[in-house]
Amino acid sequence: MPKKTPRQKISLKLDNIVRTLIKKSDKKPCQKCNKIFKTLREVDWCHVISRKYARLRWSLTNGLTLCRKCHIWFDADNNKEGHPWFEKNFKNRWIVLQRSGYKEICKIDVWTLEEKYKRYKSMI
Ligand SMILES: [Zn+2]
Repeated sequence: MPKKTPRQKISLKLDNIVRTLIKKSDKKPCQKCNKIFKTLREVDWCHVISRKYARLRWSLTNGLTLCRKCHIWFDADNNKEGHPWFEKNFKNRWIVLQRSGYKEICKIDVWTLEEKYKRYKSMI
C-alpha cells in the first residue's frame, strides 16, 4: 500500500468526524421512513448533494441520516426522487445548498481542511 498523502489523511479524518457528528446530532429515526435505529452502526450518513463536490463533502447542512434502504432510494437515478423529497421536507437547507456554488471547481487546501477538522472536533 502506498503511503497516504496529507490530503488523503485529513480527508479520512474529516469523513470519520462528520459521520459521527451527523449520526449523533440527528439522534432520530431514519428521516425518510422513521425506522428506529438500535445502534449507530445501522445509520447511514447520506450526502444530499454528491460528495464528489468538495465544497459540500463535509458540510453538516449536506448530511442526512437515513437507513440503508432509504439511502439507496435517495441516491437512485441521480437522486431523481430523493432531491424533490428533500426539497419538499427540508426547504431551507435545500436553498442553502443550492446557493453554495458547489458546482464551481474548488480545491480546498490541506490547512483549511485541518482547521475545519479542529472546529468539528470541538463540537463533539
Ligand atoms: Zn428509512
